[in-house]
Amino acid sequence: MTEQRSAIVSGGSMGGLFSGFALYQHGWDVNVFEQTAGELKSRGAGIVAQPSMLRYMEEHDIISDGEITTETNRREYLNRDGSVERKFADSMTFTSWDAVYRHLRGAFPDDRYRMGYEVVGVEQHGESVTVEFADGTEKRADLLVVAEGGQSDTRKQLLAEPSPEYAGYVAWRGLIDEEAASGNLIEAFENTFVFYEGENELILGYLIPGPDGETSRGNRRLNWVWYDNVRDRDRLKELLTDSRGIEHEFSVPPGELREDVSGQLHEKANADLPDCFSKVVTTTPKPFVQTIYDLSVPKMAFDRVCLLGDAAFVARPHTAAGTAKAAEDGISLADALGNDEITSALENWEETRLEAGERLVSEGIRMGESYMDPN
Ligand SMILES: Cc1cc2nc3c(=O)[nH]c(=O)nc-3n(C[C@H](O)[C@H](O)[C@H](O)COP(=O)(O)OP(=O)(O)OC[C@H]3O[C@@H](n4cnc5c(N)ncnc54)[C@H](O)[C@@H]3O)c2cc1C
Repeated sequence: MTEQRSAIVSGGSMGGLFSGFALYQHGWDVNVFEQTAGELKSRGAGIVAQPSMLRYMEEHDIISDGEITTETNRREYLNRDGSVERKFADSMTFTSWDAVYRHLRGAFPDDRYRMGYEVVGVEQHGESVTVEFADGTEKRADLLVVAEGGQSDTRKQLLAEPSPEYAGYVAWRGLIDEEAASGNLIEAFENTFVFYEGENELILGYLIPGPDGETSRGNRRLNWVWYDNVRDRDRLKELLTDSRGIEHEFSVPPGELREDVSGQLHEKANADLPDCFSKVVTTTPKPFVQTIYDLSVPKMAFDRVCLLGDAAFVARPHTAAGTAKAAEDGISLADALGNDEITSALENWEETRLEAGERLVSEGIRMGESYMDPN
């Protein structure tokens, strides 16, 4: 009988949970460590549900067929006055970050998901890897999966370069509970993926399930994303300083925008956007902001340690594939490891995943530059 192999996963979001789940399915003794101590909430909002990710979740009974998704069957591009400039048939499937997270968490053994553990150091020695946590404790395993997202500190220990590169624009985002939406606001988005393209700005909106994946009318949420050019670094710094005066590097979470920043957002919405979108933006209870940046690593495998998901490649959200990429990285990792020797299996896995990551980042840059003037 072969001995059970052990893995530590650093980061308990999409990449961490998909890889943890897939490794567990393949018989690994796996533990996921997430630095956040409380519930991981409001991390993201709506996401396009890529078929590969949904298929995996259905095949592994994480969700049942059609669960946690909403659909649209047409796209509409609006004029500034709110009339429809063009429309066409287009099928899209959406879900939400929290619904995917909660279902994955529910399917992964609770005693193997540890919160409040920040990985601060990594050391490899021949046949194993030792991880040090912020509280000074250490754990040893055969494999370390680094799924720490775009700002991963462990990546910085493994690779001096690269660092995330700001793309010159931000995404304002928000959610409105269908129940709380005023008047006929939701109607414009029923079965419809709605866009407005202004000069150097793009806003889009669609309905997503509730936080537990609820899809019935009244329980869904309206999700919007507004891309906005912010080239001036001082202005960026101002936007990223929250209501407590804390300056963030990449995003200000829901509910923490400064009042003057929310006020400016509302003013700009009223000045720039068609009526239905300005209503959406100005009635969103907790808008938030994320900077858009690009990140590509030259290497994902380091003997017994690997980087995956956003810790390795951050593709602009226009690709709508960051979550699916994190899922595919994790699922393919477990498949590639099989019963093979770890370091060579990681090298083989790296070859295909590097290519997939590079392709997606380039696609995101191309798409972003077609909407937003990079200069
Ligand atoms: C505006 C916008 C729209 C988007 N839209 C979509 C979309 O439609 N579809 C889509 O698929 N994707 C979308 N994305 C991208 C998607 O959110 C990410 O690709 C995805 O969340 C990456 O998952 P991850 O697990 O790799 O990283 P993250 O979700 O960033 O998670 C990393 C986790 O690691 C933890 N962590 C970090 N450091 C440590 C440490 N040292 N020790 C322990 N834990 C640690 C963090 O707390 C965090 O929970 C969008 C992104 C943006 C900004």
